[in-house]
Amino acid sequence: MSERPRLTVLSGPSGVGKSTVVAHMRKEHPEVWLSVSATTRRPRPGEKHGVHYFFVSDEEMDKLIANGELLEWAEFAGNRYGTPRAAVLDRLEAGEPVLLEIDLQGARQVRESMADAQLVFLAPPSWEELVRRLTGRGTEPPEVIERRLDAARIELAAEPEFDVTLVNTSVEDVARELLALMDVL
Ligand code: ADP
Ligand code: 5GP
Repeated sequence: MSERPRLTVLSGPSGVGKSTVVAHMRKEHPEVWLSVSATTRRPRPGEKHGVHYFFVSDEEMDKLIANGELLEWAEFAGNRYGTPRAAVLDRLEAGEPVLLEIDLQGARQVRESMADAQLVFLAPPSWEELVRRLTGRGTEPPEVIERRLDAARIELAAEPEFDVTLVNTSVEDVARELLALMDVL
């Protein structure tokens, strides 16, 4: 007998491969429901409103926060990001496996508000490899990469706060491990 689906939170430093792992996983298991966050950051090429994020203005984000519409939110490297509360609670209520891909500050807030959430940390094989991936992605200018590497040092130190650590050496392996943790396999 499997337990009722829990909320799973995937965190880890920028550039470690969270989006890549999640995209791979959902290609084979579209039944895993991934929360779409609101963010004040500008879209990267190819990112679509309502699919990758809800891209909102500062004023719209102020309103979401003031109205209590976010399950958690945080400022990360100069932009704000938050998880719309209602959609997550609806999916959990419907018994579907729910995944959040959020930063460390958000993961801490979820731990406070939802005691049975499962917190998964995605770690790089090494610091050098993390720098390589973040730089190699080619989506941020050097000063933004620096800010994200500063945040990464803090995030890596928080790894012991998580329930499970997965090392992203192979996207396929990590996606499989994550599915198993979510009771989808
Ligand atoms: P995040 O969502 O954590 O910020 P991304 O998914 O955008 O990270 O990945 C950052 C870069 O690392 C991308 O260029 C991606 O193709 C690459 N990458 C992700 N996982 C791996 C892996 N296991 N091995 C090699 N490169 C990877
Ligand atoms: P990016 O700008 O690279 O898409 O995301 C930057 C960081 O913000 C990543 O660590 C990502 O997990 C995190 N993030 C994305 N959405 C949310 C959210 O809704 N809440 C929080 N706290 N962090 C988020």
